[in-house]
Amino acid sequence: MKIQVITLFPEMFEGVLGSSMLWKAADRGIADYSFINLRDFGLGPRKTVDDTPYGGGDGMLLKPDPVVAAIEQARQNDPDALVLLPTPRGKTYKQSDAKEIAAAGQQGRGLIIVSPRYEGYDERITQWVDRQYSIGNYVLTGGELPAMILIDSVVRLLPGVLGGETSAEIESFQDDDENIEFPQYTRPEDFRGLKVPEVLLTGHHGEIAKWRAKNAHKAGPA
Ligand code: SAM
Repeated sequence: MKIQVITLFPEMFEGVLGSSMLWKAADRGIADYSFINLRDFGLGPRKTVDDTPYGGGDGMLLKPDPVVAAIEQARQNDPDALVLLPTPRGKTYKQSDAKEIAAAGQQGRGLIIVSPRYEGYDERITQWVDRQYSIGNYVLTGGELPAMILIDSVVRLLPGVLGGETSAEIESFQDDDENIEFPQYTRPEDFRGLKVPEVLLTGHHGEIAKWRAKNAHKAGPA
């Protein structure tokens, strides 16, 4: 799956995409990450990418011309790619979205992810975007962390990434937020007086399945 990220800070992605499963996905040729530096599309001698908002207000906005030029270049590399924009104005991103995007990826549809900065972007860029996603009701300084969240959640669903060690099929949020995985325990049996629930030690699969079903759906303490 070809994944192109448009960003002013490509170096932010190195640690996340260069480690563990996301690195393995690239190493195995399942995911192919590349970066388009928005600064290369900046205007004038100073390669300007931002400007003040019409109507006044604090902060700067990404100008439409550099962003759209960068999306157009990414589209030349991958004409069928889905263009994603992380934004607090978007639909709340869920596991079902990750699954749908991963399924499209398996059909050969790549991703172009725009990572805004500053106070945001000129709204007209959304004409070049297929999906706008919010990753939660809080504000981050830029679109890079949301872009990494989108990439991680999608790439781990691509066949061959998780291998046998985890199955994405029995995890939380299969039905979006109605289904949360049951609590899990590993050795030691007694950790500082905190015991593993008895039933999990019995080897009785039926009782264990019942206990797990009863204890799924429960969110941990806030
Ligand atoms: N002024 C914007 C507002 O109040 O909604 C916030 C802009 S934020 C400082 C800069 C960029 O970070 C956003 O344009 C978006 O791309 C990204 N961002 C921040 N929080 C986000 C969230 N919860 N979900 C998705 N993207 C987010």
